[in-house]
Amino acid sequence: MTQQSPNSATAQPAVTFVGAGPGSADHLTLGALRAIQTADVVIHDQLVGAEVLALIPATARRLDVGKIGFGPSTPQARINALLVAEGLSGQAVVRLKGGDCGIFGRLDEEIDALTALGIGFRILPGLTSASVAAANIGQSLTRRGRNASLRIVTGHDMAGFADQDWRGMARPGEVTAIYMGKKSARFLQGRMLMHGAAPETNITVVANISRPDEQIIATTLADLPQAVSQANGPAILLYGLAPRAALQTLPQLEEARA
Ligand code: SAH
Repeated sequence: MTQQSPNSATAQPAVTFVGAGPGSADHLTLGALRAIQTADVVIHDQLVGAEVLALIPATARRLDVGKIGFGPSTPQARINALLVAEGLSGQAVVRLKGGDCGIFGRLDEEIDALTALGIGFRILPGLTSASVAAANIGQSLTRRGRNASLRIVTGHDMAGFADQDWRGMARPGEVTAIYMGKKSARFLQGRMLMHGAAPETNITVVANISRPDEQIIATTLADLPQAVSQANGPAILLYGLAPRAALQTLPQLEEARA
């Protein structure tokens, strides 16, 4: 049996979930750009970059649900209610989220709120922070002979510091992109060392990815908490990766090193 995809051309989506990428407009898809430019209402998070926000037409209503006014962390129930109200208005609603909307973005909760009332939606995924962080340190997230899988994990979840497959993550050559890992850096370090990871394992902390204030901090598991304390803004920890030595062609790293 086939099911009609909510992304199909015949569906009439009221709400378009759009992944904005981590910051720079260079990381938007063409579909994301089209959706933003034709939106009547854009409901966005704090992590959406200024360059992307600048593409919202002046005629569109812009609702920031990530900042004071709506509160530093607008309760999810309020965001859901807002989405439903706007979704029922008949206008073109864009729900704009940083990175990929399907990675640590509470996408399901928002979709559930819409579908409970029969409101249509579609999803335009974006580049997740880990992809752009790896690109900006000149690295590949997977490599033949090094890692045959890639982990995307969160430093903390609803229960506190998140539990993970530490043993698997600690195996030599493994690569893990750790989101929301700043506060849990010491906990992560302890768990990894306890499960046999080498203290000299490379980790690169990339903060404010693809923004003018991007920071690239090369460190090791032994020095992780100290390195993380230098990050001024949202950061990804690329566990198992060091910036590539031949990085002269990457202007943003040159700036970070200057
Ligand atoms: N949907 C987003 C992730 C949201 S969870 C994505 O796919 O990238 C929030 C976490 O994402 C932050 O704590 C940080 O770890 C990471 N993050 C999001 N945007 C970032 C950015 N511009 N620079 C660095 N890290 C970022």
